[in-house]
Amino acid sequence: MKAIAVDPARRSVQLVDRPEPGLATPTDVKLRILDVGVCGTDREICAFEYGTPPAGDTQLVIGHESLGEVVEVGAAVRGLASGDLVVPTVRRPCAHAECIACRAGRQDFCYTGDFQERGIKQRHGYMTELVVDDALYMNVVPRALRDVAVLVEPLTIAEKALEQVWQVQQRLPWLACDGTGRTPPGHGHRAVVIGAGPVGLLGAMALVLNGFATTVYSRGAEPNSKATLVRAIGARYVDADAVTPAELAEEVGNIDLVYEAAGASAVAFEVMRVFGTNGVFIFSGVPGRKAPIKVDTDLIMRNLVLKNQVVFGTVNAGRAAFEAAIRDVGEFARRWPEAVRALVTGRFPMTAYADLLLGRPSGIKNVLAVG
Ligand code: BGC
Repeated sequence: MKAIAVDPARRSVQLVDRPEPGLATPTDVKLRILDVGVCGTDREICAFEYGTPPAGDTQLVIGHESLGEVVEVGAAVRGLASGDLVVPTVRRPCAHAECIACRAGRQDFCYTGDFQERGIKQRHGYMTELVVDDALYMNVVPRALRDVAVLVEPLTIAEKALEQVWQVQQRLPWLACDGTGRTPPGHGHRAVVIGAGPVGLLGAMALVLNGFATTVYSRGAEPNSKATLVRAIGARYVDADAVTPAELAEEVGNIDLVYEAAGASAVAFEVMRVFGTNGVFIFSGVPGRKAPIKVDTDLIMRNLVLKNQVVFGTVNAGRAAFEAAIRDVGEFARRWPEAVRALVTGRFPMTAYADLLLGRPSGIKNVLAVG
């Protein structure tokens, strides 16, 4: 079967032929892959900056944002049948008995770092025709979401962040921040998203859905397609090339939440200087290592203390975040069908992918994966 694999030692990204996988245990499920998304992590893997093949293999099949259709289930699988649509999770637990996070099924909080990630770290990914994995890692998606469900995985990053925001902000007992109130819990609060890539835009949609007055702070003068999308979901777009973080804070008012989704540390720490009282600052982007920069640490530390601020980083996601993302992607598609469609920049056959990922022009158009 066809697959797109990276060979880091040879520095190649290629369409390869791999053996078809078969069910290995009674709890295994076989999927036919329908869509695969491409994100910054894939681009880094294809630039050989990130990504590790499985032990004993020189190649890594890429792809971690996926949508599959169940084609076969093992004898012990319950609640899944052929024809079901599923989004599989990405991370698999480490093997250490003392890793209480992995042992509790929360490998997104793995302590040892010996977790594996499909398409990223020591496990083949989804940019291929057939995939086998344990039913435990499957999240069922309603048929109606066939065209948009490939957006579920990148949205899980924001959903996991929001789960934590509701927990943190329970420290403010006068706010409806517990996720159980009748009004959306972000109502009356102001959020800033840094970055307008898919993770940032999906995060902005989740914030708007949760009632936050949301501003997306990203590079690029208007008019541009990202700004149009941001406005279509009822958020505000601010050009980071033209407006400084201090001016941004003045425009927004007390910034209650920052969702950093650009992986750009310099601008993130500039915004951290100006975020608000009782605010929460979430890092979700993974920056490449560049030269050290100067940061006003005294000001940031004073603010953290004197303004009761919380800063946290978040990576990957657990089952609850996948379930929330499946629910919310459906809601986004109902509310903002065009904006959601615009998030899918194109559909291409797998044979065009090596070219696309390497930025080479390709004559081939139409369907399989999503970029
Ligand atoms: C994926 C996460 C993964 C992270 C780090 C992201 O692109 O969405 O699932 O944990 O990369 O490898």
